[in-house]
Amino acid sequence: MSLAYLEKLNDRQRAAVEHGVGAAGLPGPLLIIAGAGSGKTNTLAHRVAHLIMNGADPRRILLMTFSRRAASEMGRRVERICRQVLGDKAAVMTDALAWAGTFHGIGARLLRIHADQIGLAEDFTIHDREDSADLINLVRHELGFSKTESRFPTKGTCLSIYSRVVNSETSIAEVLKAHYPWVAGWEEELKQLFAAYVEAKQVQNVLDYDDLLLYWAQMASEPDLAGEIAGRFDHVLVDEYQDTNRLQAAILVALKPGGHGLTVVGDDAQSIYSFRAATVRNILDFPAAFSPPAHVVTLDRNYRSTQPILAAANAVIGEARERFTKNLWSDRESEERPALVTVRDEADQARYIVGQVLENRERGIGLKQQAVLFRSSNHSSSLEVELTRSNIPFVKFGGLKFLDSAHVKDMLAVLRFAQNPRDRVAGFRLLQLLPGIGPQTAGRILDTIAADPEPLVALAEIPAPPKSGADWPGFLDLLLGLRKAGPGWPNEISAARTWYEPHLDRIHEDAETRKADLLQLEQIAAGYANRERFLTELTLDPPDATSDQAGVPLLDEDYLILSTIHSAKGQEWRSVFMLNVIDGCIPSDLGVGTTAEIEEERRLLYVGMTRARDSLTLVTPQRFFTYGQNAQGDRHVYASRTRFIPAAMLGLFEAKSWPIVPTTAGERSTRPIRVDVGARMRAMWK
Ligand code: ATP
Ligand code: MG
Repeated sequence: MSLAYLEKLNDRQRAAVEHGVGAAGLPGPLLIIAGAGSGKTNTLAHRVAHLIMNGADPRRILLMTFSRRAASEMGRRVERICRQVLGDKAAVMTDALAWAGTFHGIGARLLRIHADQIGLAEDFTIHDREDSADLINLVRHELGFSKTESRFPTKGTCLSIYSRVVNSETSIAEVLKAHYPWVAGWEEELKQLFAAYVEAKQVQNVLDYDDLLLYWAQMASEPDLAGEIAGRFDHVLVDEYQDTNRLQAAILVALKPGGHGLTVVGDDAQSIYSFRAATVRNILDFPAAFSPPAHVVTLDRNYRSTQPILAAANAVIGEARERFTKNLWSDRESEERPALVTVRDEADQARYIVGQVLENRERGIGLKQQAVLFRSSNHSSSLEVELTRSNIPFVKFGGLKFLDSAHVKDMLAVLRFAQNPRDRVAGFRLLQLLPGIGPQTAGRILDTIAADPEPLVALAEIPAPPKSGADWPGFLDLLLGLRKAGPGWPNEISAARTWYEPHLDRIHEDAETRKADLLQLEQIAAGYANRERFLTELTLDPPDATSDQAGVPLLDEDYLILSTIHSAKGQEWRSVFMLNVIDGCIPSDLGVGTTAEIEEERRLLYVGMTRARDSLTLVTPQRFFTYGQNAQGDRHVYASRTRFIPAAMLGLFEAKSWPIVPTTAGERSTRPIRVDVGARMRAMWK
């Protein structure tokens, strides 16, 4: 068998791909740890392909990546590699790579399969962060905390604290001390709140994101069940391991106690999810977790970026306090240093970037090969306006998701409530769509039916609430229809839409645009095997507002990528722009400002810079508009370049200002423009 694909790898990558393959039994544990763009993900894909080529059963390979997008990309790569040897037969083999996904997605699937063994009803629904915050809010009200004390932490803060406690397996006191010092006085109340929240989830048969890991870890600690689950997989491979938390590490060890068949890949210098309790200790402690210890492969060559880009990125990360991976080298020569561009304000920043993006396009660099990255999702609003004005299509990752819009949430609430009528957040949302039903009536109805073993039957027996008269029978018909065999999947989503549209007309002024979204939702739904799979996958890893995954008619079009740095992980573009490379944005001033937090912001800048292949531009506006974050409220602040690029590093950049000739023309409003970009975008692509 010719293995041409191995020849494209360098010696170390090849050693990693071949580690333990062909020897008797499963290969010993393997760690690939190396800097950005050194081919870790590529090597992992080759290893999966190589395992398959050497007889591994793809149905027994568990492959976990950071996002669903990354998982499907990995599947495609594996197929491409296998195809080099097998031709068309390759597709058959890699189609069977069914266990590729995120930790949370895989967890949800396993839980569904083993639900009854751990006392979980099989029709559980999953709450996304917003639903979880809503449930915490309901519980908070019930306990009376929010009423008596207006300074009690917000629902979002409560959820973040809860999530940290669960994922880091530490006490509330420790989490408060380290990350939420201003909340320290509420420890007792939070304890009560979290206990009530956990109980509410159990009663309602709902799981939040953290539960997916928590329950999985729990299954892994039940000896019989652990063996059954572990017995499904010969090989377990994980990308971006630096961004996993302790629960995830525990799950891996439970799947592969001796480490045989286990491969993890990552870069400690790119660890950027500690706010979700990810810990870089996982990757650093991996080798010694096994006996004999894991085999470690390091890579030192970067294939992605030009030398000047890499030199600047190396310099930024070189100042990090703690670091395991070493600097990389690249042989991609270039005369072009990364640009460090000073502009007056965000409006100029937007204009500058639009100009450059268009210039790039003229030079043959398509929009899709360019990306604009930012620290925080709300940093791109001026740019979105400017892009829309210039008719440049774009897709935004990591920002407001398609599923966050009220009408899409309403539709999903219909399906969720039909699936699990004890899901109180879904029920609340749905009931209040009916005229005449407010929170109190909704709460009473949900209380009544929750006590019944057949909640939907109980619902049908409730007298129609006053004022909802004409709408009530239709509502019951819909739900009972969905509960029974009904119209089937995916037809039931059109049944739900038909029921919902009159309500939409009543509630929203821009009903037509929203209806188009619902049609799109229907198209997306058609791609899933059944309701439960659709709800799970969408909740765990929602499609972006207009991404090609969402099935919008953008597939063949060229569009610019806008992304938070967090969501840009693992990806690369020929040309990368970074917005607001100023102190206060990166490092962000929203944290407590501990050394650990600042260090994480440095790694974030490193992650952003290392996404660029040929050209990198960092933009620093001299003035920046803050929204109510300061005691003074909304105001312009004078900004300075990020502290991660001190004067001594400037030689690595090409510093310029824009516009080159300062204009004095006319008065300009200093307030950034705020418009509903979403609506304009949607209209533009129709
Ligand atoms: P990150 O840390 O950002 O996730 P990574 O280490 O996973 O990066 P990859 O994305 O796998 O790196 O690879 C970066 C780029 O280098 C890709 O374009 C890939 O195709 C290319 N590459 C990797 N290895 C080689 C090689 N041996 N020869 C040529 N190109 C390579
Ligand atoms: Mg990668």
